[in-house]
Amino acid sequence: MGKYDYDLFVIGAGSGGVRAARMAAGFGARVAVAEDRYMGGTCVNVGCVPKKLYVYASEFSKSFSDARNFGWDSNKPAFDWATLRDNKKAEISRLNAIYNRLLEGVKADVMDGRGRIVDAHTVAVGERRFSAEKILIATGGWPHIPQFPGSDLAVSSNEIFDLEQFPQRLVIVGGGYIAVEFAGIFNGLGSSVTQLYRGPLFLRGFDADIRAHAAREIAKTGVDLRFEVNVESITRGSTGLVLSLTDGSSIEADTVLYATGRKANLDGLGLENVNVEVDEFGVVVVDDEYRTAEPSIFALGDVTGGMELTPVALAEGMSFARRQFGGLENTVDYDFIPTAVFCQPNIGTVGFTEEQARARFGHIRLFKSTFKPMKHTISGRDEQTFMKLIVDKASDRVVGVHMVGPDAGEIMQGIAIALRAGATKALFDTTIGIHPTAAEEFVTMREAWTED
Ligand code: FAD
Ligand code: NDP
Repeated sequence: MGKYDYDLFVIGAGSGGVRAARMAAGFGARVAVAEDRYMGGTCVNVGCVPKKLYVYASEFSKSFSDARNFGWDSNKPAFDWATLRDNKKAEISRLNAIYNRLLEGVKADVMDGRGRIVDAHTVAVGERRFSAEKILIATGGWPHIPQFPGSDLAVSSNEIFDLEQFPQRLVIVGGGYIAVEFAGIFNGLGSSVTQLYRGPLFLRGFDADIRAHAAREIAKTGVDLRFEVNVESITRGSTGLVLSLTDGSSIEADTVLYATGRKANLDGLGLENVNVEVDEFGVVVVDDEYRTAEPSIFALGDVTGGMELTPVALAEGMSFARRQFGGLENTVDYDFIPTAVFCQPNIGTVGFTEEQARARFGHIRLFKSTFKPMKHTISGRDEQTFMKLIVDKASDRVVGVHMVGPDAGEIMQGIAIALRAGATKALFDTTIGIHPTAAEEFVTMREAWTED
């Protein structure tokens, strides 16, 4: 036995915490993990996994109607919310058990309960206290709903997955990943969806052409997209929730989903007992080893801000374990991280937006393409795919690739490897396409515009 009960005490069994715990234990560390809600964290329980299952569910409605012109009689499909919700629950329970087994398999001690830091080497879980040489904060984030009259009547992404009643009328507030993804999900499942965004165009931070194209396509699917508008109050009316909006209008809904960002989950964590720094955005400040200002305490994943994505938390967890317990030099490279928004149609993106590329490289070349996916020449669905390449003129290196269209996330994963390898436009041009696919367009794109 060493000086401490454990070499590593991980608080939070989400994407980053579980990966760090498993790898540290693999290097021979004695590891404990405290989790107060659900094994696997946000991604498994109320994030990526159930979200993607619901996206699949919602896409059937369009497939049924697409099928008709291909000769299928698909006129009377009916949707049952309880079936989807309960099958999703069963699948998530299966995954929770797998996560438990993964930790047991590496002989980590798993504790049910909220971890609270008592001092630089001590964590309390309920009445029990444990000492550890190193403590890892991997507590993730929590949905943030702004306070206003009636805000308690709104739900967050945590609750939307398990609603008792299917919302025939859903209002979604926000213009980020979660808002657009759930607009697509519930629109596809048959709700009448209104999405409200406070600014002129949603998906701030994405390439401007992508934002504009996504707005056009999402509106075509039947989502009532309203920009430059916010909610002043929500009250309970006789036939539903009544939202008073900043433009003077009102709107009625069965459910109101607030998807207005997430905050670091630090409640009751005991940070006041140690020297851990939290910045003005409420996230834990760490160096490139994920070490906080308290030398024995580390933090990674959503609780540290940055790109709040599961693969990022996983990469950070691995890097942390390799460095602290494997004796390996290892840092995460945050350049060219690809991401997808599973709105309908999907967005896939990697690298610089046009605006960022112009600021960074000065002279850029742009390649754009808009076309109807082959499937819809017969299905009759009114949907356009958009693709964009951004090239640094001096080096010919492709520095940004963006797409709105079916399977954009799947396509972008491979493109991200090319961009990380420094692929030039000439290399894209000499790559033979796969025909007939949408992705082949990326290797045959002609110039749209050059900045001299
Ligand atoms: P988390 O996974 O949030 O894990 C933190 C864990 O710590 C939780 O289990 C929590 O219960 C526990 N915890 C908190 N405080 C304590 C405490 N004091 N004691 C004990 N336990 C504690 N990312 C993608 O890459 N792709 C997607 O498609 C995607 N979809 C998403 C959809 C939604 C609706 C949401 C909300 C998020 C989505 N994300 C997606 C983001 C992704 O889920 C997060 O980036 C990822 O889960 C972060 O991992 P983490 O380990 O930092 O934290
Ligand atoms: P985002 O930060 O992406 O978006 C929040 C949205 O809410 C923005 O449009 C923001 O507007 C708006 N907003 C913020 N405050 C208010 C307010 N007071 N009133 C009205 N609107 C407001 O957060 P999400 O909640 O959508 O998602 C959290 C994170 O989870 C994402 O950033 C992403 O990292 C991750 N995620 C990843 C997914 C994926 O990989 N596919 C899917 C889902 C989530 P404004 O732009 O004007 O600030």
